[in-house]
Amino acid sequence: MTSTLARDPQTPDRLFGLTGLLADDELIVRETVRNLLARDVRPRLQQWYASGDIPVRELSTAFGDVGLLGMHLDGYGCPGMSATAYGLACHELEAADSGIRSLVSVQGSLAMFAIHRFGSEEQKQQWLPPMASGEVIGCFGLTEPDYGSNPGGMLTRATRDGADWVLDGTKMWITNGSVADVAVVWAQTTDAPSGIRGFLVPTSTPGFSAPKISSKLSLRASITSELVLDGVRVPETALLPEAAGLSGPLSCLTEARFGIIFGALGAARDCLETTIAYVRDRDMNGRPLAAYQITQTKLADMALAYGKGMLLALHLGRLKDAGALRPEQVSLGKLDATREALGIARQCRTLLGANGITLEYPVMRHANNLESVLTYEGTAEVHQLILGQQLTGYAAFR
Ligand code: FAD
Repeated sequence: MTSTLARDPQTPDRLFGLTGLLADDELIVRETVRNLLARDVRPRLQQWYASGDIPVRELSTAFGDVGLLGMHLDGYGCPGMSATAYGLACHELEAADSGIRSLVSVQGSLAMFAIHRFGSEEQKQQWLPPMASGEVIGCFGLTEPDYGSNPGGMLTRATRDGADWVLDGTKMWITNGSVADVAVVWAQTTDAPSGIRGFLVPTSTPGFSAPKISSKLSLRASITSELVLDGVRVPETALLPEAAGLSGPLSCLTEARFGIIFGALGAARDCLETTIAYVRDRDMNGRPLAAYQITQTKLADMALAYGKGMLLALHLGRLKDAGALRPEQVSLGKLDATREALGIARQCRTLLGANGITLEYPVMRHANNLESVLTYEGTAEVHQLILGQQLTGYAAFR
């Protein structure tokens, strides 16, 4: 009989001793973000998700105030925190909602990183401080309707006309496109300097429009848009001078994928914590659902997948902070974290029964979001191909 008596449960984080692996400043970041979200974001998430809209400007200034935008970049108003601290912030943000983490990732790791890494001194001075404060919102336009996993085939063109560049083309699935003040747009050009080049396009430029994509069943607490560039004329100073070829945008994606590793596991943690609380409370034939073996084997397997993912994430974070992280290692983490997190979310949903399909609980919201997270920033299959190439020496992309 004593075996059925409840003991104090441990969270998955405690089971793995994860907190003990974090430095004091990393713990402070985790607590700061957790508290901000508990106060200003979590109570409103259901409403944002149901309506398919979020107050991006309000959130970006709130996030800018606590140094979350471009937090692992140095100078120009950016906090210069460690990569691991940034990862932990992403973990907390996505434990709330993947759309909220996407807002911070796109601003800091895609748009701001592109300017920080490839911009001129003038571009950095002009754009980075107001982007770090959240006053200016950026987006990152790489994907096109027919070129997602293979962005090198992009059709968007940049043509020189006197001292200006003229941009024509369409980008698709662009986070924050409709609310951005500046778009980092990647385009092909045959004019010097030729190849794939990046441009900083103020969204008020004539010929630029960004219709919102409304028919999403995933990442509903995030704005996703098409970018239409119809003879958009920008000066020579809009070109990112240090980005040459596809390696430019791909290095930005590597930055953002790093945050996704920690982030996706944040969504998994929220599903697990919600589900453990639920099954301890849910009566089944006079006993809590938590006291049944099938429930426990599911939870044990999920906690293992989560904890191993977090250990990998922290390992990759330490490698990045030591300047030793390679892109294929980021693929390892992105593939593992997104695949496992989605599996955990779906399995947690089964334990919540019919309640699991509602917005009252975060589990199906996370599961739906993770479908996008599995696909963007390199699909799971593309990361498998990257790893396959590393393991065999053969590229199987074509
Ligand atoms: P496809 O490339 O058409 O892939 C379809 C299927 O084919 C997938 O299963 C894929 O794995 C598989 N496949 C592809 N290549 C191969 C191959 N060589 N071998 C075998 N199988 C293959 N993009 C941006 O530029 N900026 C953003 O801010 C942005 N935000 C996004 C937000 C959301 C919510 C979503 C859903 C997407 C966003 N994207 C953004 C686009 C995202 O990066 C692309 O969706 C992604 O790269 C996949 O491209 P695709 O959708 O065209 O799928």
